Amino acid sequence: GTGGASKRVSRVRVAVRLRPYMEAHDEKGEGPCVRGLGPQSLEITNWRNATETLQYQFDVFYGEQASQQEVFLSSVKPVLPHVLSGQNASIFAYGPTGAGKTHTMLGSSEQPGVIPRAVREVFHLVREREKESEDWEYSVGMSYLEIYNEKVLDLLAPNSQDLPIREDKGRNILIPGLTHTPLTSFSHFHTVFLPASLNRTTASTKLNQRSSRSHAILLIKVVRSQQGPTHRQQTGKLYLVDLAGSEDNRRTGNQGLRLKESGAINLSLFTLSKVVDALNASGGCRVPYRDSKLTRLLQDSLGGSAHSVMITNIAPEYKYYFDTFTALNFAAKSKLI
Ligand code: ADP
Ligand code: MG
Repeated sequence: GTGGASKRVSRVRVAVRLRPYMEAHDEKGEGPCVRGLGPQSLEITNWRNATETLQYQFDVFYGEQASQQEVFLSSVKPVLPHVLSGQNASIFAYGPTGAGKTHTMLGSSEQPGVIPRAVREVFHLVREREKESEDWEYSVGMSYLEIYNEKVLDLLAPNSQDLPIREDKGRNILIPGLTHTPLTSFSHFHTVFLPASLNRTTASTKLNQRSSRSHAILLIKVVRSQQGPTHRQQTGKLYLVDLAGSEDNRRTGNQGLRLKESGAINLSLFTLSKVVDALNASGGCRVPYRDSKLTRLLQDSLGGSAHSVMITNIAPEYKYYFDTFTALNFAAKSKLI
């Protein structure tokens, strides 16, 4: 954002969420291989490898009983006031296809996820602040895009072409040409977002019919203007990201075009993992934002003075063991234990 001049550098908060065991995801009846140990820890068991058990610790662990409300209250709600004050934030769901990323971010009408709850709360906070004081006037707007094959596509514009990512003199990341829709209320958001979210590029793979091959990125922008002679303006950006599946694509039988997509997805996810590692390492190592579209786009909202939360979604069934192991090693390394 255009806000604080402070040099606060924040690490990425790492949460892990385990979805409930589902028989439909356990054709061989092998049972679960993940077990919660406490509010910050879990263990995974590989009974094929001499019953090896590994334990991991994170900032927060959400077990299968954790509600959408609990995830929102502890990991997302606390960052929202900063967005209204002109700071940037990013919340992203990471993990293999089928582990609960879309459930966590989008959810359903019965169990709304992070996105509807966050947008509702942003409007609630705006109303509260405008009631408290007349110093600032707020406006809320949204953009919705996806990164597919290292192409940036506008999900609010039909037939979108690859859009460029630019940086201005204030080090703010911009996408010239990206649709920005002003929003008047939460219900207005719904009417814009819901049809667009069905526009997402998906293709089937052997692993999951609705496997998502793209990163879906919702941007909520809050601009506040100071009333009176100074007329200062501050912008806070909130990125809500449903990442492409982190599964090992050698296992999903991807070929041809799908294989090319997999490579691009791996580049963005691989770079994201390097960026998060660099941010959470204590030394001042180089953060390789420019190595992929995803991290370049998130550069002003991930690390630095931004507030970032990575929710790693995992599934308990044994068939996910390898992908769970990989995702947890990333998450645990990010947390630096
Ligand atoms: P992903 O987006 O990572 O591929 P989904 O969000 O589509 O995964 O989740 C896969 C399935 O598991 C869906 O049917 C979803 O509704 C269900 N699911 C995921 N997480 C939970 C949860 N915490 N509680 C109940 N059902 C869940
Ligand atoms: Mg999904």
